[in-house]
This record gives sequence, C-alpha cells and structure tokens, in this order.
Amino acid sequence: MKACKIPPKKIEILNQMNLYTSDDLLSYYPFRYEQLELKPYEEWQVKDKVVFEARCITYPKSIRFKGSRTMTKFQVENEDDVFDITLFNRPWVNKMELGQVLTIIGKYEGNRKITAIQYNFKPLCEQLGIQPVYPLKYGLTQKNVQDIMRRCFENSVHDIQNDVPTKYREQYRLLDKKVAYYKIHFPENIQDVTLAIRTLKYEEFLKFHLAIQLIRKQNEKVEYKQGKSFNFDDVFVLANHLPFPLTKDQVKAVNDLLCDLQSDRVMYRLIQGDVGCGKTVVAALGMVACCYAGKQCALLAPTEILAKQHYLSLKDLLRSTSLKIEVLYSALPSSKKKEILEDLKLGKIDILVGTHSLIQPDVEFKDLGFVVADEQHRFGVEQRRKLLDKGDKVDFLLMSATPIPRTLANTLYGDMDITTIETMPAGRKEVKTILIQENSFRSVLKDIVELLNQGRQIYVVCSAIEESENFVARNVLEIYENLQKQFEGIACVGVLHGKMSSEEKEEVMNEFKKNHIQILVSTTVIEVGINVVNATCMIIYDAHRFGLSQLHQLRGRVQRGSHQGVCYLLTDTKEPESLERLNVLVKSNNGFEISFEDLRLRGPGDILGTRQSGLPAFLLGNLVEDTKIIETTKHDVQEILDNSTNSENEQLIKKVLLINENTLSTMD
Ligand code: ADP
Ligand code: MG
Repeated sequence: MKACKIPPKKIEILNQMNLYTSDDLLSYYPFRYEQLELKPYEEWQVKDKVVFEARCITYPKSIRFKGSRTMTKFQVENEDDVFDITLFNRPWVNKMELGQVLTIIGKYEGNRKITAIQYNFKPLCEQLGIQPVYPLKYGLTQKNVQDIMRRCFENSVHDIQNDVPTKYREQYRLLDKKVAYYKIHFPENIQDVTLAIRTLKYEEFLKFHLAIQLIRKQNEKVEYKQGKSFNFDDVFVLANHLPFPLTKDQVKAVNDLLCDLQSDRVMYRLIQGDVGCGKTVVAALGMVACCYAGKQCALLAPTEILAKQHYLSLKDLLRSTSLKIEVLYSALPSSKKKEILEDLKLGKIDILVGTHSLIQPDVEFKDLGFVVADEQHRFGVEQRRKLLDKGDKVDFLLMSATPIPRTLANTLYGDMDITTIETMPAGRKEVKTILIQENSFRSVLKDIVELLNQGRQIYVVCSAIEESENFVARNVLEIYENLQKQFEGIACVGVLHGKMSSEEKEEVMNEFKKNHIQILVSTTVIEVGINVVNATCMIIYDAHRFGLSQLHQLRGRVQRGSHQGVCYLLTDTKEPESLERLNVLVKSNNGFEISFEDLRLRGPGDILGTRQSGLPAFLLGNLVEDTKIIETTKHDVQEILDNSTNSENEQLIKKVLLINENTLSTMD
C-alpha cells in the first residue's frame, strides 16, 4: 500500500481498521450511495438536498458563538435568483471572491435559504451523479476515503486478479474483477453498482462454500473408529429416573448420540437448541453411555462459572450412578489439581468438566472417548483439536444455544451432522421484554422498587467494565457506584466482572445466591451458567451494542423459576435499524427467529464465532437473503473440486486454503 502515495498518517489509520493490503482496501466497500441530481429551483421542496452552481455576490461574514462554534453567511446569485447561504463551523471561507462561481450542496430551508453541507469551486457537471458513502472511522472523512481509494486503485489496477474461474464468469456474465472494483467505488450510475455487487457477491459465496468444503474434507480424514459397546436400555433407564420426563426432541437427540457412539464412524455432531431447551441432560446421557463403554469423557465450557455449574448439575443428574465426576479450572488449588490429574491418568475419573484448562499438555486421560464442547462458538478449531488429540478417534459433540433453521444450518455447518431441539420443556414461561429509549435507570426505578419489595433480585448488565476514552457506553463501575447511593438502606448492590479474581467472583456469586445481594451489576460474565431462581429481572444498558442472540441468552437468566421474568432493554440510540433490531426481542422469544434476524442483519460472525473464523468474511453477501446465489455457488464449488487439476480451479483452491491457514494460525 506504501507505493500508492498515501500519506503515512493515513496508512496508520487504515492499519488500525485492519486494512493492510491494496486488496483489503479495495474490499472496503461503500455501505450506501448518494445521488446528486440537478433539479430546477421551481421543484425544490423544504428539506430537500439540493445542488446548484452560483456566483458569489457578497463577502462571507462569520459570527462566533460560545466555544469555537461559528456561523458564516453569504449570498449567491443563480440566473435571476438570489440565495442566502449559511455554513456552520467553517470560519475560513473568507477567501471567496466576489463574482466567483461555486458549487453548493446543502439543505433547502425554504424562502431561498440554504444550509450548505459542502461547497467547492469544481464545475457542477463533474459532480453530478452517484457518490459512494463509506463507513467512517478514526477521523477519516468521505473525501479522504474516496481519495485513498482512487490512489490505491490506480496504483494496483494491474495486480488485480480474477479469482473466479473464466468458465463461471462467462456463464453468468460476471464482470472482470478490476471492473467490478472500479464500478463499486467509482460508479457512474446505479446499474454500475448493481453489476459490481452481483459479481463480488458471487465471488464471496464461491469462496465461502469452497472453504466449507475444504474444512469438511479435512475433517473427513479421521473417519473410522471402533464402535463403543454399551446397552441402550441402561442409558434410558437412567433417563427414567430424572426428576422430569425428557421432551420428544431430547429423546431423539439422545438417540442420535447413542447411535453415533455405537457406530464405527467418529461422531462429529452439533446439537443446537434455544436457551433452556435442556441440552445439558442430553449430553450427560451421551457421556454416561460412553462411560458404560469403559471410556472417559470431557466436557469443555467457555467460562469457569459455567464449568462449575455443569459440574454441579452433572453430579445431581447422575447421582444414582457410581460415575466419578471432577471439575478442572485454572484457579483450582494446585494440590487438588494434581490429584485430579493423577486420577485422570489412572482412569479413576469418568467425566472431567473444565475450562480451556483441559487443553493444557499436562492433562492426560487414560482412555478418552468422547468430548463435548458447550457454547461451541467460543472455541477455536485449534483448541478443540488439542483436546481431541488427547484420545484416539474421539467422538465429538458441539452444543450451540443459537439455533438456526435447518437449511441454513446445512449451509453453515456443512461439515457436521446436526441435531435440532425445537420443543421446550413443558410449562416454560416467556421473559417479558420491554424496550426503553433512554439509557438511564429513571424510567424503570418504580418497577424495580416494587420488585425489591416483593423480595425478588435483579441483574444489571453493562457492556463495559470501566470508563474508557474511546468507548461511550455506560460502565459497570459507574453504574455500581450510582446504584449503591440510590439504594442505600433499601438493597445491597454487588458487582461482578471479568477483571475480578476467581475467588472474588465466586464470593459475589455466593452472596447473590444467598440473597445477601439484591442487585448485581455485571458484564456479560453472567451470560451463561448462572442459575438464581429468585432473580427475575434484568436491566441491560446500551442494549444496541449487543447481538440479538446474546441478549436473548442474557435474558434467559431471569426465567428460572415460577415468577414472571422481566427484561428491560435500555438504549439511547436513535438509529431506526437498531431499534427495529431490538424490537425483534420484544416481539419474539424464539431463539430460531432471533438468531435468524442476527444472521440477516449482522452476518454469521456473531453466531459462528471462532469456529468458522477460517471462513472468508461476508462483506456484501447475506446468508439469509441471497438464497439463489448460495445454491448456485454451492453447485459450482462441487464442480470446481471435481476438476481440481484445472489450473484456474487449482489456483482458487490454493487461495482459499491460504485464507483458512492464516486465520487459524492467528486465532489463539
Ligand atoms: P440449555 O439447553 O440452555 O443448556 P439446560 O440444559 O441448562 O438448558 O436446561 C435448562 C433447565 O431445564 C435445567 O434446569 C434443566 O434441569 C431443565 N430441564 C431440562 N430438560 C427438562 C425437561 N425435559 N423437563 C423439565 N425441565 C428440564
Ligand atoms: Mg447450556
């Protein structure tokens, strides 16, 4: 990028935005376009965005307000009409000369008055048409980005290569990649944009499917094992002793697992189901089967809190068996750790629950047969691999609480078998969700006092821990202090966040469980694994900063018992799209619908997380809406793989493999 004559300061900013190569930069696409159209004065309406050429007839005069704000006024003449122009905060316009012709872009205020957004001395005819609008960061202006883009394009145009093989470019009449880049950044009209997007989207999806297929191929290499032998009935007898009957889908899921364990193919399965649908007990029964076959199991959880929670519920669920269950995490006293590691090696432990501590080299199993990873999107492929390598041909189960519709799941998780739990345990209530367009406690105060009077407890969630310069969200420490003052003598307020030590966290959690703390202010550390039945209310600050699936998981914390759970989403965003997004949660309690919306609006990153981070990103494509292109590219990828010796195909495959490797190696 250096050779593009972009100033070093700007390069620094681009690097901050993760843009390093000219290819990175050229794939930094406009998120919308603006049309500049010439309209005769007679057709102007108040509030219209207008553009016109005129002659300056008075010298600009600036007025200074408090601080550094200024307002500058001058008059211009266009044919017979005189217009009053107002400009804010641009006191340096004085250099304008009488009689000089300029182009003004601004908002029409009626009565021949215009608030100018921009003015310049370039001829109007050069500026009409369509203008790209880029997402801006770190003080860059639209003009900066447009300028950088032009330099970059001119400089690298000869190096831009077509990744899509000629066959498909001809078949679908796609543009040459150079032309596509040109048209998306410097379009002459909207057709240019449409054509460019069509081409670039095709390429995105083609690479995406190719990456999935390549990952799948890698996984298929370790396919066969010796089937585990156990008795199905023994497992289902245990299921009958649970305090509740399994739902229809749970039974089916258990059955899927048992068949996989027994089969001579290595299990590679995903169980997806909404928060609270009861995935843990399904995994538990699978683990029991594996233990009955004489092998050990590991259950991997993303946080210590969740690991401990799983450990306790497993002990409870399996108390009628003689299986030995232990939990391992980094904060465990070293003597206890040592004991666990020794027992594990001797085969005295049947099920080991734990955080990423399980991946450490000193953790050795006698005979590991089955690994379960909960909240799968939080683990990298590498981490999982390391755990699976602790045994031979280990069966592997992933659990996800962001379920997506079947056809989409088949696309996204093309390399796995999928079990979907749709039915919820009987009698589950829905969390009542209320959107409040104000980022403050004031509007919920009355309700909270009422709940406290009824003896209930409350979570307050913030997206940040402490105040920070470039982050404008409300933070845990500030809110904690405020609430302490506000509720002095009424309720005890506690605080919980990721920077606290393990003991501190545990202490606070215990106090909350015992109801010594009534209001718990925290970050999203409470997202998974916290189970306090009496906590029936959650208040989430800056709700627009979270993904919908994450908010849905969070609110799942307050519907654990028979009291009606309530969740308040606080936000001061004025963006209609953000509000619309949050309203999905108000209207729906269905995890499938919610993650579908997330996928439609934000792309797969949030849902797939690190698991699929080896996949190319979607910049233009939309997994929910572009169904036709998805089908087409899926088919074409098969053809490409079948003809992998064709030189163009070979090159494309190599390129996609490279994306894969690069992201994987930088993941941990
Ligand atoms: P998730 O799928 O979100 O991991 P859990 O496995 O934590 O859900 O289950 C949530 C709660 O529902 C647990 O308290 C569990 O004991 C309970 N549960 C699971 N299955 C059933 C069922 N079939 N009937 C009633 N309660 C159930
Ligand atoms: Mg769970």
